[in-house]
Amino acid sequence: MRRAICPGSFDPVTNGHLDIFRRTSLMFDEVIVGVFFNPGKGNPWFTVEERVEMLKLATKDIPNIRIEAFSGLLNQYVREQDAKIIVRGLRTLSDFEYEFQRALLIKEIDKEIETVFMMTGVEHSYLSSSGVRELLSFKGSIDQFVPPCVAKMIKDINSKRGN
Ligand code: ADP
Repeated sequence: MRRAICPGSFDPVTNGHLDIFRRTSLMFDEVIVGVFFNPGKGNPWFTVEERVEMLKLATKDIPNIRIEAFSGLLNQYVREQDAKIIVRGLRTLSDFEYEFQRALLIKEIDKEIETVFMMTGVEHSYLSSSGVRELLSFKGSIDQFVPPCVAKMIKDINSKRGN
């Protein structure tokens, strides 16, 4: 079975991520979205459970996708899932620099794991979770950047938190 792992913090998932998942799902038998804590990105806005729930809601129409939380080293997780391919989305030159280092580091640790890159859809090329979080922190609308089910869930979470 050809299985791809799409790892990320997805804090929160955006239309840009979803575009990558959809296109990846057409190329592989199964796509596993691994939600993890990225220590380089500080404290997440949403809990892992909330991010997993958002992803599950947003990917309901993709039949061959599975959403999971994981912690620890990515290469170990990939092996545990009986996979060898990591798919990452690529937007800007700054993404390239970061992804280049990550991919080579993983290659150094495990030569059999390949990281492959999928170019962002042009309409999502400016879109990032951090941009969405910035809008949220100023109470701006995020409706055009995330699917409606995610926008609703975020509204519910924010009102529970008293934001
Ligand atoms: P991480 O903390 O691992 O960087 P992110 O959730 O920020 O996790 O991103 C996960 C993956 O999705 C990364 O490969 C990132 O480059 C990609 N990505 C993020 N936003 C977009 C977008 N708008 N278009 C395409 N790929 C994207």
